[in-house]
Amino acid sequence: MSTHTADPVDIAIVGAGAVGLAAALALSREGSSVALLGPVATPRDGRTVALLDGSWRLLADLDVQGALLDKAAPLTVMRLVDDSGSLFRQPPVEFRASEIGLEAFGWNIENADLTAILAEKAGAVPGLRMIPGLVRAIEPQADSIRLSGEGFAPMSARLVVGADGRNSQIRSAAGIESRDWRYPQVALTAIFEHRRDHREISTEFHTRQGPCTLVPLPGRRSSLVWLLDPQEAEAVAALDDAAFALRAERQVQSLVGAMTVVGPRGKVPMSGLSVERFGAGRMALIGEAAHVFPPIGAQGLNLGLRDVAALRDALAGASDTGSETVIAAYDAARRTDVRLRTGAVDALNRTLLTDLLPADLLRGAALLALSRIGPLRRFVMRQGLAGGAAS
Ligand SMILES: Cc1cc2nc3c(=O)[nH]c(=O)nc-3n(C[C@H](O)[C@H](O)[C@H](O)COP(=O)(O)OP(=O)(O)OC[C@H]3O[C@@H](n4cnc5c(N)ncnc54)[C@H](O)[C@@H]3O)c2cc1C
Repeated sequence: MSTHTADPVDIAIVGAGAVGLAAALALSREGSSVALLGPVATPRDGRTVALLDGSWRLLADLDVQGALLDKAAPLTVMRLVDDSGSLFRQPPVEFRASEIGLEAFGWNIENADLTAILAEKAGAVPGLRMIPGLVRAIEPQADSIRLSGEGFAPMSARLVVGADGRNSQIRSAAGIESRDWRYPQVALTAIFEHRRDHREISTEFHTRQGPCTLVPLPGRRSSLVWLLDPQEAEAVAALDDAAFALRAERQVQSLVGAMTVVGPRGKVPMSGLSVERFGAGRMALIGEAAHVFPPIGAQGLNLGLRDVAALRDALAGASDTGSETVIAAYDAARRTDVRLRTGAVDALNRTLLTDLLPADLLRGAALLALSRIGPLRRFVMRQGLAGGAAS
């Protein structure tokens, strides 16, 4: 293998998932030379992402909003339904975007559509090198990182951005410690057509096995992400589409009438991951390379897009893109937001999984307070969307 590498690029992003693609678009606008390494894959598995207001504004900045609008549905109301059977069960709580002066909390789109739209845009950016090979070796040099792998000539970069998902090789190469854990849950995902309008309402049912959320898509279509204990998930996943749709309709209390499955369904075991820091030694982590948690409150990808905005800000005006100053600024910018959200999602998920009275009481009291106290409800809505400064 040749050991020759050309001049280092300013930034090499490893991983062409939604977060890596968004980073490539955002960072190549700042005058840096950028390479994006990794195959673009757009498998359809019923998974959608609710892009919250701040993400939406970042994507508008990247000039993809028009294309996304054709495929996404606005979420104007978010409803929480306590379906846990707890003694302290509360009536449903509704959050309306209009209460905090927004047209919508966000827009829901199939993951595959989002990735395809970002990839098309990235492919049209002059100077953004898209290399579909897998990175196999990451070697720190004096003032750059050398990357080599399948299907591309070795290259070096002043900054390597790890957007390579939960099993990130960049994270290992940077020596960044991580903690991972499993939840006794599996998420089933599917897209449905249904008889009645969803009226742009997203409904999260909190059951003893975890949340089950029905989220609007354009037309009379919605996506479902349904967390179940692994054994029940296996049994429900084994049902044919018609029987699965009936089970799902019962679970969501026939909110949108009769439902029919459209397209493939998915099944994802639930886990979490957190890192001790977000960058080290000319490498920075974004997206699931840096944080993983269950799909509650539509936070995962939104947090990844906020990583992108924070990295862009940390790089502003830097002469050396991989300098310790840049890495330290990025790390400082992401710590609090990511920790708070990982903690909040984990805590809510665990209060559902336990039937201990104090946990039920706490959750019931929180829902009651949210439904009765307007300023608290508005505060929580703004926190849910926080980082709206992503643009
Ligand atoms: C069921 C479910 C529902 C969800 N719903 C929501 C939601 O409503 N809202 C929300 O915000 N989030 C949601 N999430 C979370 C969201 O899907 C993830 O946060 C997001 O997809 C992660 O994107 P990513 O680009 O960081 O990682 P990935 O999509 O995993 O991309 C990583 C990429 O890196 C590539 N790669 C890996 N190793 C290498 C290598 N060595 N060389 C080159 N490339 C490499 C892979 O091929 C892959 O393309 C949900 C998650 C689940 C499981």
